[in-house]
Amino acid sequence: MPATICALATPPGQGGIATVRISGPDALALADAVFVPLHAKKSLRTARGYTALFGHYILRGRPMDETVALVFRAPHSYTGEDVAELSVHGGTAMAEGLLEALYAAGAQPAGRGEFTRRALENGRLSLTQAEAVMEVVSAAGRQGAALAAGALAGRLGQAIEGIRAALQGVAAHLAAWVDYPEEDVPSLSADELRRVLGGQKTSLDRLINSYGGGAALRHGVDGVLAGRPNVGKSTLLNLMAGFDRAIVTPTAGTTRDVVEQAVVLPPLGLRLNLFDTAGLREEDEHPDAIEAEGIRRSRRKLGEAGLVLAVFDAAAPLTAADRELAAACQNRPALAVLNKQDLIQNAAVLDDKKGELAPYFKEVLPLCAKDAGSLPVLGEAVARAVGAADLDPDAAALCSARQLAAAVRARDALTEALRAVDGGFGLDAVAVCLADAQAALAELAGEDAAAATVDAVFENFCVGK
Ligand code: GDP
Repeated sequence: MPATICALATPPGQGGIATVRISGPDALALADAVFVPLHAKKSLRTARGYTALFGHYILRGRPMDETVALVFRAPHSYTGEDVAELSVHGGTAMAEGLLEALYAAGAQPAGRGEFTRRALENGRLSLTQAEAVMEVVSAAGRQGAALAAGALAGRLGQAIEGIRAALQGVAAHLAAWVDYPEEDVPSLSADELRRVLGGQKTSLDRLINSYGGGAALRHGVDGVLAGRPNVGKSTLLNLMAGFDRAIVTPTAGTTRDVVEQAVVLPPLGLRLNLFDTAGLREEDEHPDAIEAEGIRRSRRKLGEAGLVLAVFDAAAPLTAADRELAAACQNRPALAVLNKQDLIQNAAVLDDKKGELAPYFKEVLPLCAKDAGSLPVLGEAVARAVGAADLDPDAAALCSARQLAAAVRARDALTEALRAVDGGFGLDAVAVCLADAQAALAELAGEDAAAATVDAVFENFCVGK
């Protein structure tokens, strides 16, 4: 019999309410041991599912805080077991007292993600949904949370099942053809194979291609502000942060080090963890050791960033350092900001600079960092650059690296299958590739997942979920 577990389900720290969740065969009996209802005749053990009782909890015989108890009866609960949720006043003190009372009554502390793991084991959730739970819980932005909620609602599962069903039809046909050559199984035409396999490959491509943007919406992106001194990086950072975070002076080289700042950009609520960098001037031009170290760190950040915001001065000719930065941005997720647009009277000058920078960047965006109206324009360009601009929050979305890896394997196997069709390698070759794709899709769905895979999924969970 599984142990009855309990944990704080709300974040620690000050807050209006703190909720302790208890799950397992003895959940209601243990909750009863610490909970005294206002109406003495009532008890959690005898309460119906989906009901609430009001009272207080006791610790070592002493009445403690006012408590609201919710009762969920197996299998109609999050975990599929009997569950009680006891809410007390927030702040951690009362919740800790409650946990202490529950441990004393015989409850075990829950491990990371143990409630969700039980939900998985009891068939209340699939593995992809369990992964979505964590993404919803940890999402930084609303749009990202909406994407993960779609997966939790089973949209990803449905999409995977659709792909599997289509492939299953072809696989069954191929198997009959390969295994019973003497029977008169009609051969599948190359066109029909291309249509079905190609169609499902397209669906997988769509899932795979939207992963990066979805992850950006859920968790934010590490971004770097790069550019030579005085182009307006600090001003741009302040525009995004909404206050004077960096020291802005008209003297070149004022931003000394890598400054970290998380900003949330309109209109999608995309979070950028920004590193405002020292100018990328040549190190040996600089006698100043501190600044040289800053420059080295800037360069490293540039290579690692999920987004490079490369800033250029629209009002000054492009310098060798500007060109060097632009070249370093090629094939990187990079957006060029052509700042100080307000100083340009002649549109042709701006167009020339845009034209010169365009080959190295996903987009060149002229703006004025001093103008607050530039913020949403910048936010939209950033969302486009990280592939988050036109994600449909109602579409199926992959929401973990494990899912992405399995989807890529399935897609690659379908690519091989299509190659086998085009190369005329025979239907048994197609069947082998198709079987690989089906195995990868089963893995994507989390079917018969090995214990180690499940362990890995729950490793990143928080306690109490
Ligand atoms: P950094 O060295 O790249 O961080 O550049 P700063 O943000 O310190 O800006 C350098 C100078 O350019 C400051 O005097 C800013 O006020 C000015 N500046 C920044 N952005 C703009 C802009 O969009 N228009 C104009 N006219 N001046 C700007």
